Amino acid sequence: MRRFVCDGTLGALCRWLRAAGHDTAFLGPVRRVRRDEPAQADSLLECAVREERLVLTRSPRVAERLGPRAHLVQDDVVFHQILEVSRALDLSLVKHALTRCREDNTPLVPVDPQAARGRVPPYVAATQHSFVGCPSCGRVYWGATHRDSMLQRLEELEALRTAVSQVAPPRPPAEAAPPWPAPLGHGTATAARRRPP
Ligand SMILES: [Zn+2]
Repeated sequence: MRRFVCDGTLGALCRWLRAAGHDTAFLGPVRRVRRDEPAQADSLLECAVREERLVLTRSPRVAERLGPRAHLVQDDVVFHQILEVSRALDLSLVKHALTRCREDNTPLVPVDPQAARGRVPPYVAATQHSFVGCPSCGRVYWGATHRDSMLQRLEELEALRTAVSQVAPPRPPAEAAPPWPAPLGHGTATAARRRPP
């Protein structure tokens, strides 16, 4: 599977790619103490080479600097970004969904229900029977509402993604364009961007 690193412009996209099971690192803005320290583009390039990751960025300057090591994301809205990137790079959004920790990208492992019971709220322990956990940060995930709604959203996005890839070849310009999947509130949710993971 292809691996990615999101820069500081794509924190929300980073979390969603992890939710979809894609190995996605995050490299926030680099604070330079001295002027001669490498800028973020250099840190991203170093990470891309060292860990064999494709850099995802909203910055045309960074994308231009990194050339084929980077993919420039065009849209500001996170759900559009997910569609944009998954279509451009042919990434399934459901095949490996919910197999990684959204906080730190670590693959999740099954957690013994008895062991999980001491680490989750009592009502969860009483009603849930299967748990996965992150060996890195210790978070325990279970099939409650949030997880289900996240999976549902990923399935909806996957349906949009694959619908587009099955559209027939372009028609002559005189004909009406084929019905395109409805965009998700395009241009109305700019506040959703730049949330760090
Ligand atoms: Zn974790």
